Amino acid sequence: TPALRLTAWGDPPSLVDAEVPEPTGTEVLIRVEAAGICHSDLHVLDAAPGALPYRPPFTLGHEIAGHVAAGDFAAEGLAVGDRVAVYGPWGCGACRRCAAGEDNYCDRRAELPWSGAGLGRDGGMARYVLVPHARHLVPIGDLDAAQAAPLTDAGLTPYHAVAGLKLADDAAVVVIGVGGLGHVAIQILRATTRARVFAVDVREAALALADRSGAHRTLLTRTDTATVLRRETGGADAVLDFVGSDPTLSLAAGVLRPGGALAIVGSGGGKLTVTKPGPLPPGASVSLPFWGSGRELREVIALARAGSVRVETEQFPLGAAVEAFARLRAGQVSGRAVLLP
Ligand code: NAD
Ligand code: ZN
Ligand code: ZN
Repeated sequence: TPALRLTAWGDPPSLVDAEVPEPTGTEVLIRVEAAGICHSDLHVLDAAPGALPYRPPFTLGHEIAGHVAAGDFAAEGLAVGDRVAVYGPWGCGACRRCAAGEDNYCDRRAELPWSGAGLGRDGGMARYVLVPHARHLVPIGDLDAAQAAPLTDAGLTPYHAVAGLKLADDAAVVVIGVGGLGHVAIQILRATTRARVFAVDVREAALALADRSGAHRTLLTRTDTATVLRRETGGADAVLDFVGSDPTLSLAAGVLRPGGALAIVGSGGGKLTVTKPGPLPPGASVSLPFWGSGRELREVIALARAGSVRVETEQFPLGAAVEAFARLRAGQVSGRAVLLP
């Protein structure tokens, strides 16, 4: 059965013929219907050996939806054939955070050689995936799998980041980077807050996507972007940075109002100096949100089922994974690329 695996650090991903895994203990076997390609997958493929705690080989794919095929799932009220989204940030399963369904902030994160499905553990860019416990499965009803898969990260991560902001009705929020996560972030802001949403990207096509996603104002990155944003927002109450590079972090710090909040979501490797005084305004807070909780995933799925959030997708068969990765790397994907194994 086909699986797209990272076999060794520095190697391109390879499509191999793997055994269908057999569930043991609490595990549940899922027949994958869709697996999203995240920019984090590119960061993993580009990582220097030793930079990440994962130990290849493992199957890629951390945005997964499919249906229950076999295993231990009755306690969660599931049956064979039930369609589910997979909560991806699997933790140790034993600490207080994991018990609360907040595996994303598992107490043992630093010791685990994985961050979740497809990130050090076998993931969903395959026909089958083993999920360690049925508590990671969220029913999706008749929601399209190509929607549900990206919602588990490109939906859940912005949802968690937005939930961490306290936004007044007249708040101004700047979204930097309107790709897979950013375009869903704009929709979540529009669906769950009354904030004015300003979107920034380096690509015209991304601004068109921001516009379709409900942004009030879109701006192409230029030398005067910070000045224009400061003037038009009066100082941003919050900035969601879905890039996290040196230029975007400095733009973010430069547009925040005193007391504003910066959520750094992108793993672009940029640096921001935190000193008093420094580039951040007085009272600013900085957060590094990682993925989200199981409860938040259920809320995102509910928003999508209600029609408030729709991921824009480009779909590919698993056999075209290499081309799909290349499109993402070239900045040619609009929204999310999704593999259909
Ligand atoms: P993506 O490639 O789909 O989108 C990135 C967008 O940023 C693109 O539209 C691109 O044009 C834009 N961009 C690039 N450089 C820019 C710049 N200097 N200024 C403005 N816009 C710029 O990526 P994605 O899948 O949405 O992921 C975004 C980032 O979030 C990645 O770094 C990814 O690793 C990270 N991520 C973090 C978490 C988390 O839990 N914190 C979860 C998922 C992804
Ligand atoms: Zn991701
Ligand atoms: Zn834990």
